[in-house]
Amino acid sequence: MKSTKRLVAGRKPRLSLKRVIATFLIFALAYIPLVSMLGTNTSAATYDNNQIICVGLYYGSSALSTINVAGGTINIGSSSTTFSASSQALEVGYSDGSTFTKLGNASSSTLNFGSLNNFAAIGMSVKAYNNENASVGKTFALRFPDGAIRINAKNFYTGFLEIRTTSSGFLEIINVLSLDEYLKGVIPYEMSTSFPVESLKAQAIAARSWTFCNLTRKHKSNGFNLCSKPDCQAYLGGARRTTKTDNAVDITSGLVMSYNGKIAEGLYFSSSGGSTVSAHNFWGGTYTPYLTAVRVPEETGYMSWNFTISMNELSTYLKARTEFSSLNGTIKSFEITSVEQNSDHVLALKATDSAGKSVTISGGLKVYSIIAFLGREKGKPNTSTNFNFSYAYSMNIAGYGETAYSGNIAVATADGTQSYTGAPSELKVATATGVESSGMEANSLVVNGKGWGHGVGMSQMGAKSLAEKGYDYEYILKRFYTGIEISKLSDL
Ligand SMILES: [Zn+2]
Repeated sequence: MKSTKRLVAGRKPRLSLKRVIATFLIFALAYIPLVSMLGTNTSAATYDNNQIICVGLYYGSSALSTINVAGGTINIGSSSTTFSASSQALEVGYSDGSTFTKLGNASSSTLNFGSLNNFAAIGMSVKAYNNENASVGKTFALRFPDGAIRINAKNFYTGFLEIRTTSSGFLEIINVLSLDEYLKGVIPYEMSTSFPVESLKAQAIAARSWTFCNLTRKHKSNGFNLCSKPDCQAYLGGARRTTKTDNAVDITSGLVMSYNGKIAEGLYFSSSGGSTVSAHNFWGGTYTPYLTAVRVPEETGYMSWNFTISMNELSTYLKARTEFSSLNGTIKSFEITSVEQNSDHVLALKATDSAGKSVTISGGLKVYSIIAFLGREKGKPNTSTNFNFSYAYSMNIAGYGETAYSGNIAVATADGTQSYTGAPSELKVATATGVESSGMEANSLVVNGKGWGHGVGMSQMGAKSLAEKGYDYEYILKRFYTGIEISKLSDL
């Protein structure tokens, strides 16, 4: 892609003096999502805004031996209460994967049971019920009408809970609910509720679009659509919902992003540091036109980060990685050899050892995993591929002795003074007897980064900055997803 700059129609920014300083944690999308099937739609059928979503809450190794569920209310906003718990009882029934069928009321609005215990309302254990009804596709389920269920005194969930039982007697809990109810539990965990309304609306449409593209992609083998972790989208039920975040979902209900008449995958992440990276150059695979690199100079408040790593530590850590295991001795230089076009995101890194042997790794994901690995070792795990290197080194100056320096070396060239970003040991100097090594040894590598997350699609902090400048959700989405349209699900 030569240029991804695109003129996008949208509201002109209105002057705003408001500048909110955000200091909270944002749950970005998974650092390493699987997007090998980007841009593919499995069906040409009409999409349903009432799509049912099955979210795995506890499953596999997180399955529970005992659960204590209680029906209750979620207080949304400062005063309004959406759900009323008056004179209701928990309902016991079964799920066919999308709908709840009531068998009876539970005797109490609080249930405490393990998978192997007898369960009064069905006259047998949950495990026995599930075993008996597996062949007809029925799974034990619980619902609290017009309310929400709390699991083990933790989060509230609307819709209903499917309670599966494993052969070893553990309980798996799947939350079954409508698309917009699901999104109302996602938005306040993926974005701070204090973000401007237009950025929350952009987030709702991006998340709705992403959801449709991932219904059968990641967790088909688990038997549900999505998990509740940032690996899919952060979803912790209703506890953090507010009137404002609910409204962002309601106002945009039925709207998705489309490209060439198909739903566009609304990938997003925490912060870009001023530019994004293309899906193709980050993960490889098919080129997806709307997931290309764009610059977002308006983005402020992104997390800048840095860490310093000694050349000895760098040698130890890099050589322990499979990618660099063929290198020997000390790593003398670690260089950026490719950067995304129209972006500052790094696409390739080259390490050279003391014998002059070098290894280059290419692709955003590989670069990300190396920088994240080094960052974790240095206590800076939140990372991105938007970074640059400088070195800390020492130089012997006649008459002054050895002095420590940090930063890049300025070199006089025919094109003016330029920054030398390679390792000082590789810097050559002109002397009376010819060109020689500078003799400077790098003591350590300094990694200076901006942003957090994979960098593909919409930057959540960027969306916030654009909304603060007065742009609407349509402009925000079109800035990050090149060439998309906002469409009604019913039109696709
Ligand atoms: Zn997942």
